[in-house]
Amino acid sequence: MKSFFDYERPELAAMLHPSFRSTQLFKAVYQRRVENFDSITELSKGERASLASEWDIRLPAVHRRFESVDGTRRYLLRLAGGDDGELAETVFIPEETRNTICISSQVGCALACTFCLTGQLGLTRNLTAGEIVTQVLFAQRDNLSEEQAGSFNIVLMGMGEPLHNYDNVMKAIRILHDKHGLNMSMSRITLSTAGLLPAIQQLATEPDIPNLAISLTGATNTKRNELMPINRKYPLEELLAAVRQFPLKHRQRVTFEYVLLKGITDSVEDARNLVKLLRGIRAKVNLIPLNEADELDYQRPTELAIQRFQQVLIDNNVEAYVRKNRGNDISAACGQLMKKWSDIPA
Ligand code: SAH
Repeated sequence: MKSFFDYERPELAAMLHPSFRSTQLFKAVYQRRVENFDSITELSKGERASLASEWDIRLPAVHRRFESVDGTRRYLLRLAGGDDGELAETVFIPEETRNTICISSQVGCALACTFCLTGQLGLTRNLTAGEIVTQVLFAQRDNLSEEQAGSFNIVLMGMGEPLHNYDNVMKAIRILHDKHGLNMSMSRITLSTAGLLPAIQQLATEPDIPNLAISLTGATNTKRNELMPINRKYPLEELLAAVRQFPLKHRQRVTFEYVLLKGITDSVEDARNLVKLLRGIRAKVNLIPLNEADELDYQRPTELAIQRFQQVLIDNNVEAYVRKNRGNDISAACGQLMKKWSDIPA
Protein backbone atom coordinates (compact mmCIF):
# COMPACT_ATOMS: atom_id res chain seq x y z
CA MET A 1 0.00 0.00 0.00
CA LYS A 2 1.15 3.50 -0.76
CA SER A 3 0.80 6.26 1.79
CA PHE A 4 -1.38 9.00 0.33
CA PHE A 5 0.51 11.58 2.43
CA ASP A 6 3.79 10.89 0.64
CA TYR A 7 2.54 12.43 -2.60
CA GLU A 8 2.10 15.95 -3.94
CA ARG A 9 -1.04 16.66 -5.92
CA PRO A 10 0.73 16.82 -9.32
CA GLU A 11 2.29 13.42 -8.61
CA LEU A 12 -1.11 11.98 -7.77
CA ALA A 13 -2.59 13.53 -10.89
CA ALA A 14 -0.10 11.56 -12.96
CA MET A 15 -1.00 8.33 -11.15
CA LEU A 16 -4.80 8.57 -10.94
CA HIS A 17 -7.43 8.40 -13.68
CA PRO A 18 -9.05 10.73 -14.32
CA SER A 19 -6.35 13.08 -13.09
CA PHE A 20 -8.76 15.48 -11.36
CA ARG A 21 -9.27 12.74 -8.74
CA SER A 22 -6.06 14.09 -7.20
CA THR A 23 -7.77 17.38 -6.35
CA GLN A 24 -10.95 15.65 -5.17
CA LEU A 25 -8.95 13.40 -2.87
CA PHE A 26 -6.80 16.26 -1.57
CA LYS A 27 -9.93 18.18 -0.60
CA ALA A 28 -11.56 15.14 0.99
CA VAL A 29 -8.53 14.11 3.02
CA TYR A 30 -6.95 17.43 3.99
CA GLN A 31 -10.02 19.67 4.19
CA ARG A 32 -12.90 17.33 5.10
CA ARG A 33 -10.67 15.09 7.21
CA VAL A 34 -11.94 11.89 5.63
CA GLU A 35 -10.17 8.82 7.02
CA ASN A 36 -11.61 6.11 4.80
CA PHE A 37 -12.60 5.99 1.17
CA ASP A 38 -16.16 4.86 1.95
CA SER A 39 -16.93 8.38 3.14
CA ILE A 40 -16.03 9.88 -0.23
CA THR A 41 -19.53 9.44 -1.60
CA GLU A 42 -18.97 11.41 -4.80
CA LEU A 43 -17.02 8.38 -6.06
CA SER A 44 -18.64 5.14 -7.17
CA LYS A 45 -18.48 2.12 -4.88
CA GLY A 46 -16.16 0.33 -7.25
CA GLU A 47 -13.79 3.24 -7.44
CA ARG A 48 -13.72 3.66 -3.68
CA ALA A 49 -12.84 0.00 -3.27
CA SER A 50 -10.10 0.13 -5.84
CA LEU A 51 -8.58 3.27 -4.28
CA ALA A 52 -8.79 1.68 -0.82
CA SER A 53 -6.84 -1.32 -2.01
CA GLU A 54 -3.99 0.87 -3.19
CA TRP A 55 -3.83 3.91 -0.93
CA ASP A 56 -3.50 4.29 2.81
CA ILE A 57 -5.16 7.43 4.22
CA ARG A 58 -5.06 6.53 7.91
CA LEU A 59 -3.27 8.78 10.36
CA PRO A 60 -0.59 7.35 12.65
CA ALA A 61 -1.69 5.78 15.93
CA VAL A 62 -0.83 7.64 19.11
CA HIS A 63 1.55 5.66 21.29
CA ARG A 64 1.62 8.09 24.25
CA ARG A 65 -0.04 11.43 24.85
CA PHE A 66 1.20 13.80 27.56
CA GLU A 67 -0.63 16.89 28.72
CA SER A 68 1.12 19.76 30.48
CA VAL A 69 -0.43 21.92 33.19
CA ASP A 70 -0.10 24.82 30.71
CA GLY A 71 -2.18 22.98 28.07
CA THR A 72 0.76 21.95 25.87
CA ARG A 73 0.31 18.46 24.47
CA ARG A 74 3.09 16.16 23.47
CA TYR A 75 2.48 13.11 21.31
CA LEU A 76 4.54 10.08 20.50
CA LEU A 77 3.18 8.85 17.19
CA ARG A 78 3.79 5.38 15.84
CA LEU A 79 5.35 5.83 12.41
CA ALA A 80 3.80 4.16 9.42
CA GLY A 81 6.59 4.72 6.88
CA GLY A 82 9.04 2.10 8.08
CA ASP A 83 8.19 -1.21 9.70
CA ASP A 84 10.68 -0.37 12.39
CA GLY A 85 8.20 0.68 15.09
CA GLU A 86 9.91 4.06 15.50
CA LEU A 87 8.10 7.01 17.06
CA ALA A 88 7.79 10.64 15.99
CA GLU A 89 7.43 13.40 18.56
CA THR A 90 4.95 16.18 17.93
CA VAL A 91 3.95 19.03 20.23
CA PHE A 92 0.80 21.18 20.19
CA ILE A 93 1.22 24.51 21.98
CA PRO A 94 -2.02 26.44 22.53
CA GLU A 95 -1.79 30.21 22.57
CA GLU A 96 -4.42 32.92 22.77
CA THR A 97 -3.78 34.52 19.40
CA ARG A 98 -2.39 31.55 17.48
CA ASN A 99 -1.59 27.90 18.16
CA THR A 100 1.68 26.24 17.25
CA ILE A 101 2.31 22.72 16.02
CA CYS A 102 5.93 21.69 16.47
CA ILE A 103 6.94 18.73 14.31
CA SER A 104 9.96 16.45 13.95
CA SER A 105 11.90 15.82 10.77
CA GLN A 106 14.06 12.90 11.91
CA VAL A 107 14.15 10.20 14.57
CA GLY A 108 17.07 11.43 16.68
CA CYS A 109 19.64 13.84 15.24
CA ALA A 110 23.20 13.63 13.98
CA LEU A 111 24.40 17.08 15.03
CA ALA A 112 25.24 16.39 18.68
CA CYS A 113 24.75 19.90 20.09
CA THR A 114 26.01 19.56 23.64
CA PHE A 115 23.02 21.22 25.34
CA CYS A 116 20.31 19.27 23.49
CA LEU A 117 18.95 15.92 24.63
CA THR A 118 17.98 14.83 21.13
CA GLY A 119 21.61 15.41 20.17
CA GLN A 120 22.69 12.73 22.63
CA LEU A 121 20.70 10.10 20.77
CA GLY A 122 22.44 10.19 17.44
CA LEU A 123 20.45 9.76 14.25
CA THR A 124 18.18 6.76 13.77
CA ARG A 125 16.58 7.74 10.48
CA ASN A 126 14.94 10.41 8.35
CA LEU A 127 11.18 10.76 8.37
CA THR A 128 9.33 10.35 5.08
CA ALA A 129 7.33 13.27 3.69
CA GLY A 130 4.13 11.50 4.72
CA GLU A 131 5.38 11.00 8.26
CA ILE A 132 6.06 14.73 8.49
CA VAL A 133 2.67 15.71 7.01
CA THR A 134 0.66 13.36 9.23
CA GLN A 135 2.16 14.82 12.42
CA VAL A 136 0.52 18.11 11.50
CA LEU A 137 -2.79 16.45 10.63
CA PHE A 138 -2.84 14.46 13.84
CA ALA A 139 -2.16 17.45 16.09
CA GLN A 140 -4.64 19.58 14.14
CA ARG A 141 -7.49 17.07 14.37
CA ASP A 142 -6.81 16.28 18.02
CA ASN A 143 -6.96 19.93 19.07
CA LEU A 144 -8.89 22.03 16.58
CA SER A 145 -12.42 21.75 15.25
CA GLU A 146 -13.08 22.11 11.51
CA GLU A 147 -13.98 25.77 12.05
CA GLN A 148 -10.66 26.40 13.80
CA ALA A 149 -8.85 24.17 11.32
CA GLY A 150 -6.44 26.78 9.99
CA SER A 151 -5.63 28.61 13.20
CA PHE A 152 -2.10 27.40 13.76
CA ASN A 153 1.50 27.90 12.77
CA ILE A 154 3.89 25.08 12.01
CA VAL A 155 7.45 25.05 13.31
CA LEU A 156 10.04 22.47 12.29
CA MET A 157 11.65 22.60 15.70
CA GLY A 158 11.03 19.12 17.00
CA MET A 159 13.49 16.27 16.77
CA GLY A 160 16.04 16.33 14.01
CA GLU A 161 17.79 18.72 11.66
CA PRO A 162 15.27 19.51 8.89
CA LEU A 163 17.93 20.47 6.36
CA HIS A 164 19.61 17.08 6.83
CA ASN A 165 16.41 15.59 5.41
CA TYR A 166 16.02 18.25 2.75
CA ASP A 167 13.99 16.51 0.04
CA ASN A 168 11.39 14.95 2.33
CA VAL A 169 11.02 18.15 4.38
CA MET A 170 10.52 20.33 1.30
CA LYS A 171 8.06 17.89 -0.16
CA ALA A 172 6.07 17.85 3.09
CA ILE A 173 6.05 21.67 3.10
CA ARG A 174 4.70 21.76 -0.47
CA ILE A 175 1.96 19.28 0.44
CA LEU A 176 0.94 21.36 3.48
CA HIS A 177 1.02 24.51 1.34
CA ASP A 178 -1.18 23.11 -1.47
CA LYS A 179 -4.24 25.30 -1.94
CA HIS A 180 -6.53 22.29 -2.32
CA GLY A 181 -5.09 20.73 0.84
CA LEU A 182 -4.41 22.44 4.16
CA ASN A 183 -3.49 25.59 2.25
CA MET A 184 -0.91 26.65 4.84
CA SER A 185 0.64 29.96 3.90
CA MET A 186 4.45 29.92 3.77
CA SER A 187 4.45 32.79 6.25
CA ARG A 188 2.99 30.42 8.85
CA ILE A 189 5.65 27.73 8.45
CA THR A 190 9.07 28.13 10.09
CA LEU A 191 12.03 25.91 9.38
CA SER A 192 14.72 25.93 12.05
CA THR A 193 18.27 24.86 11.29
CA ALA A 194 21.52 24.56 13.21
CA GLY A 195 23.20 26.04 10.14
CA LEU A 196 23.70 23.59 7.27
CA LEU A 197 25.18 26.10 4.91
CA PRO A 198 24.79 24.42 1.47
CA ALA A 199 21.19 23.51 2.26
CA ILE A 200 20.41 27.09 3.32
CA GLN A 201 21.76 28.25 -0.04
CA GLN A 202 19.59 25.68 -1.81
CA LEU A 203 16.54 26.74 0.20
CA ALA A 204 17.10 30.30 -0.97
CA THR A 205 16.48 29.20 -4.57
CA GLU A 206 13.13 27.43 -3.97
CA PRO A 207 9.97 28.91 -5.49
CA ASP A 208 8.17 28.68 -2.12
CA ILE A 209 10.25 29.43 0.94
CA PRO A 210 9.15 29.09 4.58
CA ASN A 211 10.38 31.41 7.33
CA LEU A 212 13.96 30.71 8.30
CA ALA A 213 15.16 30.30 11.88
CA ILE A 214 18.82 29.80 12.73
CA SER A 215 19.91 28.21 15.99
CA LEU A 216 22.91 30.29 16.98
CA THR A 217 23.62 29.98 20.72
CA GLY A 218 27.36 30.69 20.42
CA ALA A 219 28.17 34.24 19.29
CA THR A 220 31.86 33.55 18.58
CA ASN A 221 33.40 30.62 16.70
CA THR A 222 35.32 29.51 19.78
CA LYS A 223 32.14 29.17 21.82
CA ARG A 224 29.96 27.85 19.04
CA ASN A 225 32.54 25.20 18.05
CA GLU A 226 32.25 23.78 21.56
CA LEU A 227 28.47 23.86 21.78
CA MET A 228 27.46 23.05 18.22
CA PRO A 229 30.02 20.85 16.39
CA ILE A 230 28.42 21.77 13.02
CA ASN A 231 30.10 25.18 13.43
CA ARG A 232 33.52 23.61 12.80
CA LYS A 233 32.32 22.78 9.30
CA TYR A 234 30.33 25.94 8.64
CA PRO A 235 31.70 28.77 10.80
CA LEU A 236 29.71 31.83 11.83
CA GLU A 237 31.01 34.29 9.23
CA GLU A 238 30.08 31.94 6.36
CA LEU A 239 26.74 31.09 7.90
CA LEU A 240 25.80 34.74 8.40
CA ALA A 241 26.98 35.66 4.91
CA ALA A 242 24.49 33.10 3.55
CA VAL A 243 21.76 34.50 5.80
CA ARG A 244 22.49 38.02 4.53
CA GLN A 245 21.79 36.79 1.00
CA PHE A 246 18.66 34.88 1.93
CA PRO A 247 15.62 36.32 0.11
CA LEU A 248 13.14 38.00 2.44
CA LYS A 249 9.70 39.35 1.66
CA HIS A 250 8.51 42.79 2.71
CA ARG A 251 8.69 42.99 6.53
CA GLN A 252 9.89 39.40 6.81
CA ARG A 253 12.77 38.67 9.18
CA VAL A 254 15.11 35.83 10.01
CA THR A 255 14.67 34.43 13.51
CA PHE A 256 17.73 33.57 15.58
CA GLU A 257 17.36 31.16 18.46
CA TYR A 258 19.90 31.66 21.20
CA VAL A 259 20.03 29.28 24.16
CA LEU A 260 21.11 30.99 27.38
CA LEU A 261 23.51 28.80 29.36
CA LYS A 262 24.62 30.03 32.76
CA GLY A 263 28.21 31.27 32.73
CA ILE A 264 28.69 30.21 29.10
CA THR A 265 26.46 32.22 26.78
CA ASP A 266 24.69 34.65 29.13
CA SER A 267 27.19 37.46 29.76
CA VAL A 268 26.92 41.09 28.65
CA GLU A 269 29.93 40.47 26.45
CA ASP A 270 28.14 37.54 24.77
CA ALA A 271 25.17 39.82 24.15
CA ARG A 272 27.43 42.48 22.59
CA ASN A 273 29.04 39.85 20.36
CA LEU A 274 25.58 38.79 19.26
CA VAL A 275 24.65 42.37 18.40
CA LYS A 276 27.81 42.71 16.28
CA LEU A 277 27.13 39.44 14.51
CA LEU A 278 23.61 40.43 13.50
CA ARG A 279 24.49 43.89 12.24
CA GLY A 280 22.73 44.60 8.95
CA ILE A 281 20.46 41.55 9.14
CA ARG A 282 16.68 41.90 9.44
CA ALA A 283 16.66 39.76 12.54
CA LYS A 284 14.52 38.82 15.48
CA VAL A 285 16.10 37.00 18.40
CA ASN A 286 14.37 34.37 20.52
CA LEU A 287 16.26 33.89 23.74
CA ILE A 288 15.67 30.41 25.14
CA PRO A 289 16.79 29.99 28.75
CA LEU A 290 18.16 26.45 28.98
CA ASN A 291 15.64 23.73 29.74
CA GLU A 292 17.61 21.79 32.29
CA ALA A 293 17.91 18.01 32.41
CA ASP A 294 19.93 15.57 34.53
CA GLU A 295 21.77 14.42 31.42
CA LEU A 296 23.05 17.95 30.69
CA ASP A 297 26.02 19.62 32.39
CA TYR A 298 24.60 23.13 32.00
CA GLN A 299 22.42 25.40 34.07
CA ARG A 300 19.76 27.93 33.34
CA PRO A 301 20.84 31.52 34.05
CA THR A 302 19.18 33.60 36.76
CA GLU A 303 16.22 35.80 35.80
CA LEU A 304 18.45 38.82 36.29
CA ALA A 305 21.04 37.55 33.81
CA ILE A 306 18.32 36.73 31.29
CA GLN A 307 16.87 40.25 31.53
CA ARG A 308 20.29 41.87 31.40
CA PHE A 309 21.11 39.93 28.21
CA GLN A 310 17.81 40.89 26.59
CA GLN A 311 18.31 44.55 27.53
CA VAL A 312 21.68 44.74 25.74
CA LEU A 313 19.98 43.56 22.56
CA ILE A 314 17.06 45.96 22.90
CA ASP A 315 19.38 48.88 23.68
CA ASN A 316 21.15 48.13 20.40
CA ASN A 317 17.92 48.00 18.40
CA VAL A 318 17.84 44.23 18.08
CA GLU A 319 14.35 42.85 18.60
CA ALA A 320 14.60 40.21 21.32
CA TYR A 321 12.07 38.02 23.12
CA VAL A 322 12.52 35.58 25.95
CA ARG A 323 10.88 32.31 24.98
CA LYS A 324 8.38 31.10 27.56
CA ASN A 325 9.01 27.68 28.88
CA ARG A 326 6.07 25.63 27.62
CA GLY A 327 5.36 21.99 28.44
CA ASN A 328 8.40 21.67 30.66
CA ASP A 329 6.67 19.26 33.06
CA ILE A 330 6.13 16.76 30.24
CA SER A 331 9.55 17.23 28.58
CA ALA A 332 7.93 18.88 25.60
CA ALA A 333 10.15 21.95 25.77
CA CYS A 334 12.94 22.81 23.32
CA GLY A 335 15.73 20.28 23.28
CA GLN A 336 13.96 17.86 25.61
CA LEU A 337 12.26 15.65 23.09
CA MET A 338 13.02 11.96 23.31
CA LYS A 339 13.85 12.26 26.97
CA LYS A 340 12.96 8.91 28.49
CA TRP A 341 9.19 8.80 28.86
CA SER A 342 9.03 5.88 31.28
CA ASP A 343 9.58 8.34 34.15
CA ILE A 344 6.79 10.70 33.12
CA PRO A 345 3.32 10.12 34.52
CA ALA A 346 0.90 9.11 31.74
N1 SAH B 1 18.04 21.06 14.44
C1 SAH B 1 17.21 22.23 14.26
C2 SAH B 1 15.78 22.00 14.71
C3 SAH B 1 15.61 21.77 16.21
S1 SAH B 1 15.01 23.21 16.94
C4 SAH B 1 17.87 23.42 14.94
O1 SAH B 1 18.86 23.23 15.64
O2 SAH B 1 17.42 24.54 14.75
C5 SAH B 1 15.31 22.97 18.60
C6 SAH B 1 15.68 24.27 19.29
O3 SAH B 1 15.81 23.99 20.68
C7 SAH B 1 17.02 24.80 18.81
O4 SAH B 1 16.93 26.18 18.61
C8 SAH B 1 17.95 24.53 19.99
O5 SAH B 1 18.94 25.53 20.08
C9 SAH B 1 17.01 24.55 21.15
N2 SAH B 1 17.45 23.73 22.27
C10 SAH B 1 18.10 22.55 22.22
N3 SAH B 1 18.33 22.07 23.46
C11 SAH B 1 17.80 22.96 24.31
C12 SAH B 1 17.70 23.01 25.73
N4 SAH B 1 18.19 22.03 26.51
N5 SAH B 1 17.09 24.08 26.28
C13 SAH B 1 16.57 25.06 25.51
N6 SAH B 1 16.62 25.04 24.18
C14 SAH B 1 17.24 24.02 23.58
